[in-house]
Amino acid sequence: MGIRTIETDVCIIGAGPAGCATALKLDRLGIPCVLVEKAVFPRDKTCGDAISGKVMVNLKRIDPDLLKRFYAAPWKMDIHGIRVALPSKGKNIDLAFKPSNHFGDKMPPSFTARRMDFDNFLAQEVKNSPLVQFLEQTHITHHQRIKDGFLLTAPKQNLQIKTKMVVDASGAQSKFSRQIGRLEKEDQHYAGSVRAYFKNVTGFKDVQFIEIHYLKSITPGYLWIFPLPGNAANVGIGMRTDFVRDRDINLRKTIDDIVKNHPGIKERFAQAEMETPWQGYGLPMGSKRYPLTGDHYILTGDAGHLIDPLSGEGIGNAFYSGVFAAEQIEQCLAANDFSAEFLKAYDARIWRVIGKEMKLSYQMQRILNRPFLVAIVAKILLANQNLITKIADMFTDFELRKQLVKPGFWIRNLFFRK
Ligand SMILES: Cc1cc2nc3c(=O)[nH]c(=O)nc-3n(C[C@H](O)[C@H](O)[C@H](O)COP(=O)(O)OP(=O)(O)OC[C@H]3O[C@@H](n4cnc5c(N)ncnc54)[C@H](O)[C@@H]3O)c2cc1C
Repeated sequence: MGIRTIETDVCIIGAGPAGCATALKLDRLGIPCVLVEKAVFPRDKTCGDAISGKVMVNLKRIDPDLLKRFYAAPWKMDIHGIRVALPSKGKNIDLAFKPSNHFGDKMPPSFTARRMDFDNFLAQEVKNSPLVQFLEQTHITHHQRIKDGFLLTAPKQNLQIKTKMVVDASGAQSKFSRQIGRLEKEDQHYAGSVRAYFKNVTGFKDVQFIEIHYLKSITPGYLWIFPLPGNAANVGIGMRTDFVRDRDINLRKTIDDIVKNHPGIKERFAQAEMETPWQGYGLPMGSKRYPLTGDHYILTGDAGHLIDPLSGEGIGNAFYSGVFAAEQIEQCLAANDFSAEFLKAYDARIWRVIGKEMKLSYQMQRILNRPFLVAIVAKILLANQNLITKIADMFTDFELRKQLVKPGFWIRNLFFRK
């Protein structure tokens, strides 16, 4: 049988949040594209399953009706804040979020949802988008530069795709990003993590808060317990790869030991059932800036190393980059220019919008990597409820958040608090 060839202006590799955001935005801009995905939906992706306000901003930007459909989905859980549990046993700091106001009706600013459900929602939206040719079970294994673009090959499907533009949205293990974009896995800018699903974990706050636990034994990493619908929870641990390597830490064994034996945690798992084994995956973080474009290609989401280096949150930035990629491609098509020089506008826009936040998150990550500084911050916070409220507001106010890395802010609150 001969090889089937598709010719297109735009081919997106990968239908996670970055790839779906690109495809949906292109569709709404009236631009046809091909979206290839090696899996078949619904499919899982190892994640913490927390969906931040950035996702809502971008769903609305793609199509306000899309956000309305997301708000109506039954498989997600409203999240009203973050509980930060400190090394000193039994001490929690509860940071309550302010509601957001996208349609005049106050909605929680964040949610949790299993990626199995959330990504399937996005994939179904793509399937309902007439200008997207969506090819599941199509694994791109080779890419080759050709005159005016790339030739992508999926040998198992006997398929090749000739495209003027590649949007690489194939995630943390992207071969395209490594080989064409030259992005490297640098341990200091990468994190390792494992997670599992549980049923019947007890001891959550009455309204739903996600939980981050700073435990002495795993500093500079943290443990998370995120509630999900159906009395379920996503439980995981994450740590920068250089620390995992230098301390020879086995993340699966470490978290297994914590849920079975750590005082204050083990009691909450006494009745719990483990639904899945511990599953691991990497997080390429945006604490180092790489070029995200070159002749005829754009990197998005994890393929562009755009995960927040403090929180490990990557879905929101995958959305931003997908939407910006689509808007950049609209410009490329209008100017018939797919050159590296022209595409630099995408890099500039990404860093203008998320660059300061990435930098701040990296500064904060480095502070929290030092146990003695964590202890000082905890002491100040536990003695000052007004400050806790101020920090909760910082989640939705970037200008306020900048104060967190200024020593003066902490000194004022330590010595001169009212
Ligand atoms: C343990 C863990 C916890 C996390 N917790 C959170 C969290 O709570 N909140 C948050 O916002 N972020 C979290 N993240 C980060 C988040 O999961 C990622 O940032 C996000 O999934 C990035 O989306 P993406 O579309 O770039 O890539 P992915 O979601 O990885 O999607 C890539 C897609 O490409 C497909 N693909 C790959 N290669 C090919 C190929 N060659 N051909 C065709 N298809 C291909 C894959 O099958 C996949 O569907 C976490 C990450 C980990 C590892």
